[in-house]
Amino acid sequence: MGDDRDTELADALAEVGRRVGQAMTDALERIRPTFGALAEVANRPEVRAVIERAEKAMRRRPCLCFCSWAHPADRGVCEMFDAVITAPYSSDWLGDVDVPLCAPCAAARAAHEFAEPRP
Ligand SMILES: [Zn+2]
Ligand SMILES: [Zn+2]
Repeated sequence: MGDDRDTELADALAEVGRRVGQAMTDALERIRPTFGALAEVANRPEVRAVIERAEKAMRRRPCLCFCSWAHPADRGVCEMFDAVITAPYSSDWLGDVDVPLCAPCAAARAAHEFAEPRP
């Protein structure tokens, strides 16, 4: 008798497992066309243009000048997302690194250093 019940339970579990598996398959089948459509949209020229423009914007280097420390008199000149040159910078914990700077900052730093040469 007990054996029969165990078999029933096993059958029931197997049935549940089969249904869950089927439901997952159905869900994936339903999602798949959406992914296909997305890939198609991403390949359209007007969409590619937008993506390329975003990538170009991401590539712009931010100015990493410490304005208030490097040129306190001209703090407002910074063009924060338009670094055009790098300046060597020595730091105790970073060693010698090249720091991206925007043009106005580079000029302001040069002026500041010229006015107050550091030891
Ligand atoms: Zn600056
Ligand atoms: Zn700057």
